[in-house]
Amino acid sequence: MSDVMYKDAHEHSERDSQPNVIKRVLPELLDIRRGELVAIKFHPGDYGNTTHVRPVVIRAIVDVVKEEGGEPFLTESTVLYKSKRFDGRGVVEVAAMNGFTHASMGAPFIVADGIRGDDGVVVEVGGKEIDEVEVASACAKADYMIVVSHGKGHPASGFGGAVKHLGMGCLTKSGKRKVHVVCQPVVDVEKCTGCGKCVEACPWDAIHVVNQKAEIDREKCAGEMSCASACPEGAISEPAGSREKMQMRLGEASLAPIKVLNKNITYINWVYQITAGCDCFKFSNTPMTEDVGILFSHDPVAIDCATIDLINEKMFLHEYQNVNKLRDKLEGVWEVSPWIHIESAEKLGAGSSKYVLTKI
Ligand code: SF4
Repeated sequence: MSDVMYKDAHEHSERDSQPNVIKRVLPELLDIRRGELVAIKFHPGDYGNTTHVRPVVIRAIVDVVKEEGGEPFLTESTVLYKSKRFDGRGVVEVAAMNGFTHASMGAPFIVADGIRGDDGVVVEVGGKEIDEVEVASACAKADYMIVVSHGKGHPASGFGGAVKHLGMGCLTKSGKRKVHVVCQPVVDVEKCTGCGKCVEACPWDAIHVVNQKAEIDREKCAGEMSCASACPEGAISEPAGSREKMQMRLGEASLAPIKVLNKNITYINWVYQITAGCDCFKFSNTPMTEDVGILFSHDPVAIDCATIDLINEKMFLHEYQNVNKLRDKLEGVWEVSPWIHIESAEKLGAGSSKYVLTKI
């Protein structure tokens, strides 16, 4: 049974503000020694996304770490899909555009897996799906890590929170590829018109149009599926059962940062602006439901279970109202279970789904 602390989204005074809640709660949870390097791992949002975690929240965490004697730095890894954030330079540039600069945060921003996304430490996890996976260097080599996740929906895993952050966000490109590669898509040649839109979408140079039909090079393909979204004919799809396999891999990979950091991690789930999609989206849709609040824990599985349960208690709004009749509303949003990756993480020992929620 793991402890999860929770402050709801209602604010009645300055004491309730998000920075003040963090300054009140976080010192009790941190176990850092003077001079230790403390990674604050968060998703600063892609360019165009405006529902990512607020700079003022990250700044409050930086201030607490300094108060506790630590040496904080902000960090995020490069991505697998076509984006400004594909390389380390772009990660820093987009973070700055979204408000996360050294000047505003009071701490430097360091790209977790280096300029090309290949700076990491291989960690054995011994899972059913994956044996080892590469953790981004700045996460693996820190003395302590605070993982700050935006609790929200996700098209690939149903939910994006702490477990997904560990099993994807804390990995190098090679690590991310290992999780995704089972989703290498197939092309329906009957539907393919040879338009080449998938070629443009792929950052891995893995698709070529030959004789008016798209062909995928399996050696190069990372399985990140941007091509499927880009195809106007719906000619590209993932193989049956691959999504579930990827979710299981995601859960298993989440153990790697925990192991390499010897569990020296605190988790914060920031559950505001609860969008259906993730902060990798280059836009922000209207939130699906009202804000939940902020959660704290030492257990990534417990904090995610509590977050999903709290989201499911809310009434969903706008185009998501049809999920209100379901027991698991979040699952209904993408018709993707949010539990597969979390159960896989628990099975390998990343945490416990049994939690005690303490309201603060
Ligand atoms: S985008 Fe779709 S239709 Fe166009 S070449 Fe690729 S698979 Fe074929």
